[in-house]
Amino acid sequence: MPLYRHLFFDLDHTLWDFERCSGETLEELFHEYQMESLGDVCAQSFVSTFRTINRSLWLQYGTGQISQQQLRDTRFVLVMNELGLPQTDIPASLTEQYMNRCSRKPHLQPYAREVLDYLHHKYTLHILTNGFDDVQMIKMQSSGITDYFSHIITAQKAGCYKPDGRIFSYSLQLAAADTATSLMIGDSLEADVIGAQRAGMDQVFYNCEGIGHTERPTYEITCLSELMKIL
Ligand SMILES: [Mg+2]
Repeated sequence: MPLYRHLFFDLDHTLWDFERCSGETLEELFHEYQMESLGDVCAQSFVSTFRTINRSLWLQYGTGQISQQQLRDTRFVLVMNELGLPQTDIPASLTEQYMNRCSRKPHLQPYAREVLDYLHHKYTLHILTNGFDDVQMIKMQSSGITDYFSHIITAQKAGCYKPDGRIFSYSLQLAAADTATSLMIGDSLEADVIGAQRAGMDQVFYNCEGIGHTERPTYEITCLSELMKIL
C-alpha cells in the first residue's frame, strides 16, 4: 500500500449524514407549516420526493447545467409540482428555514467520529466538497468535526466542481500535497472516485448503499469503520 500523507474527505453523505439531517428538517417543517392540510400528502412522501428531486438537481449543478441559486430556488417548486400541490401554497420562508435548520443538524454517518479520531493522529486531513461555503462550515461546526481538518476546500472557493481536475490540483497545491501520497474518500462515483482517478490520486469509494457499478476504485468500502483497516 502506498504511504499516504494527505486524506481528502468529501463532506455530504460521506461524513455528514445528509439524508438524516435533511429528512429530520423536512419532517419538522412539514408539521410546522401544516402541509398535511394542503392535499393528499404525508411527511414521508414529502421527504422522499425531496430526496429524489434534490439528487437530480445536484447532478445538474455538478455538471454546470444550473447555478447554486437555481438549485435553491427551484427545489421546493419541483417537489410541490411532483406531489400535485399548488405552488401558491409554498410557504415563503420554506427554503430559508430548510437551509438554516438542516445545516445545523449534528448527525454524522456511522463511525465518522471514531474514524476521524483514529486518522487525524496519522494523516493530515482535508475536506474537499462541492457544497456551498456558507452551509458547509455550519454543518462541520454543528457536528463538531471542524478541528480535524487542515484545509476545507469548497467548489465555491476553487471556482470549479469535482470531478473537474482543476479542483483536485487546486486542493493539492493548497495542502502542499502530491498525488502519490494523497487519497480521496467519498460517496460519489463520478465526483469523488472518477474525479480523483483522472487527477492521478488514489480513491476510496464509500458505497454505503451498495450500488452496482463497473468502475475500479483503489478501495471500496460500505462502512467508514473499514478505513481503520486500510489506513
Ligand atoms: Mg458526497
